[in-house]
Amino acid sequence: PDTVRLLSSSQVITSVVNVVKELMENSLDAGASSIDIKLENYGLDRIEVRDNGLGIKAADTPVMAVRHFTSKICSHEDLERLETYGFRGEALGSICAVAEVSVITKTKEDDISTHYTLNFTGGIVSQKPSHLGQGTTVSVLKLFKNLPVRRQYYSSTKKCKEEVKKVQDLLTAYAIIKPDLRLTLVHNKVVVWQKAKVADHRSALIATLGPSAVANLLPCHHHQEQPEIVLEGFFPKPGADHSSTSSSNPDKTFIFINNRPVHHKEIMKLLRQHYTAQYPDDSARNRYPTLMLKVTVPPSSVDVNLTPDKTQVLLQDKVEAVLTAVEAFLVSLYRPRG
Ligand code: ADP
Ligand code: MG
Repeated sequence: PDTVRLLSSSQVITSVVNVVKELMENSLDAGASSIDIKLENYGLDRIEVRDNGLGIKAADTPVMAVRHFTSKICSHEDLERLETYGFRGEALGSICAVAEVSVITKTKEDDISTHYTLNFTGGIVSQKPSHLGQGTTVSVLKLFKNLPVRRQYYSSTKKCKEEVKKVQDLLTAYAIIKPDLRLTLVHNKVVVWQKAKVADHRSALIATLGPSAVANLLPCHHHQEQPEIVLEGFFPKPGADHSSTSSSNPDKTFIFINNRPVHHKEIMKLLRQHYTAQYPDDSARNRYPTLMLKVTVPPSSVDVNLTPDKTQVLLQDKVEAVLTAVEAFLVSLYRPRG
């Protein structure tokens, strides 16, 4: 049974960035307005996520990391109107199977915080009083200590650096979609990335990508009924100099579906096609537009279960409708010249 647990957990928890994503989403689900992330040795020695959210009720702590415990949905119907990032109750338990985990938490009702040390199966092995304020801090030590092959993947410094870059890209995406969130990333005790609370998406784009990347972006909005789809965001102004509105990597193209950052190949392809088509110059072909696209559909159109990391979320029959809407919108924005 230990082997089964280890194997299934290693499918849910695949990388440093994946751990950060799960912990951060838990913090956001707990209503946090401030999240501090600390990595040591690229996250291999320690990943710590501290939030100022609601905390975990004492009654829930014995089961918090038990596989399939979730405080977020009670019935199958809840899935249809899902507003939280988490719902499967898998993350915390799975992390316990592949690392050493401790949780410090305090709710508004608690007088002091409590530090829990968890074991392989997510059970509490010990607890003691602690001194932190309201919120939750999850520490993940020695990630993949029992998965030598996975650990081996991180033996090259290049791979490790790429991983930290992926963490930064992930934080950037959440920073853009959640303007009022305060976020910091510390690696080996050095602040490597941070973003203060700001008023709106535009300010969040400026805070994360810099003023020059945002100067040539246009706010856009498009709403259609039946099927109901809202497209919003910031797009490069038609005809603007492509060196100022694009990047040679896709890392400045931010796509969100119902507030989840996603990697959506087909939407990305459309965005690129229509953006680059307006430039006669061939060098634009290798560029990715700097933009934010926020797609909102009724929660019943998404199935966050499609992939374990929840980055592919649209139901198959809704994909076409969304692609059609995005395409129509892009055609009106970037009508080919001539
Ligand atoms: P899920 O997010 O799918 O519910 P997780 O395994 O990620 O499952 O977390 C299990 C439970 O632990 C959550 O449902 C929640 O009750 C609690 N929890 C985990 N992290 C936090 C946090 N940062 N703040 C408050 N509660 C948390
Ligand atoms: Mg979760």
